[in-house]
Amino acid sequence: MSGEDAIGTTGEELARCGFAALVGRPNVGKSTLLNALLGRKISIVSPRPQTTRTRIHGVLTRPGMQIVFVDLPGIHAKQPRAINRYMNRTALASLADSDVNLFVIEALRWTEEDERALGELRTAGRPILLLINKVDRAQPRSRLLPFMAEVSAKADFAQVVPLSALKRKGIDGLPDLIAGYLPESPLLYPAGQVTDASDNFMASEIIREKLTRRLQEEVPYGLVVEIEGMGQAEDEPGKLVVQAVIWVERTGQKAIVIGKGGELLKEVGRAARLDLKQYFGRPVHLELWVKVREGWTDDEAALRRFGYET
Ligand code: GDP
Ligand code: MG
Repeated sequence: MSGEDAIGTTGEELARCGFAALVGRPNVGKSTLLNALLGRKISIVSPRPQTTRTRIHGVLTRPGMQIVFVDLPGIHAKQPRAINRYMNRTALASLADSDVNLFVIEALRWTEEDERALGELRTAGRPILLLINKVDRAQPRSRLLPFMAEVSAKADFAQVVPLSALKRKGIDGLPDLIAGYLPESPLLYPAGQVTDASDNFMASEIIREKLTRRLQEEVPYGLVVEIEGMGQAEDEPGKLVVQAVIWVERTGQKAIVIGKGGELLKEVGRAARLDLKQYFGRPVHLELWVKVREGWTDDEAALRRFGYET
């Protein structure tokens, strides 16, 4: 990166810079919102809860501002396994470190889990913006305003914003709104950087997303994708070779992931390759293996090996 970038902010100039954590129970749309705000996919999304396992930083740089979004794993009530304990620790530690916290809920829905997340946010003591997501599917519409009034009264929110991350409605003004809660400082990241996640991490997340979307029930929670190799193809200049192992907890899960005649794995490979190509901006040759490691989700050493620092 040179000192001066496309938008003309130099390293010495001050801008509103800081951290904004996305907080909320699983499945309210935090990752979808992050991707919509960044205009680029850096956080994986699926209809299943617990898709986001570790914190992901997405960086939005605009003239005069740089917002570092932290997409947290959801906070869970019951944490029987080490991976759940890890996810909770990660989420809670970030809240107090943020300059502002973005509390995401679903329109017309308030659950005990929302209540618990709000409790954590109050403890963190940072300004809270309440983001009411999924207004596109709020039915009947007439209930939206009363719902907003009701939830707005639950805490001393700095702002309340209804929006739809999926339809990209109500999100245009968010960066300015958030920036108002950030201190002035030099940029924290080079202006061209969208995430601080490593290439390995992004590649494994992209593959895990494709698997999670195609698998039923508990299988997605029992798998992890480990990148064994990533490098230049020997036969084709510019082509990237990605070698990945899909670790599952049981032999039965291995058969499920591979699918009849290898069909499911092939489909996952095809879909992942397209996203990898888009993310890395070059053609990708993807090699996938499926291996069994019993009980890895409750094994601290295995978690560390797979990048979930405990
Ligand atoms: P997270 O667990 O909070 O990160 O939630 P995700 O971003 O993974 O989204 C969970 C599900 O909600 C996915 O199926 C999304 O497509 C869906 N979703 C997210 N935002 C919206 C929205 O604004 N409207 C609707 N209808 N669905 C949404
Ligand atoms: Mg998520």
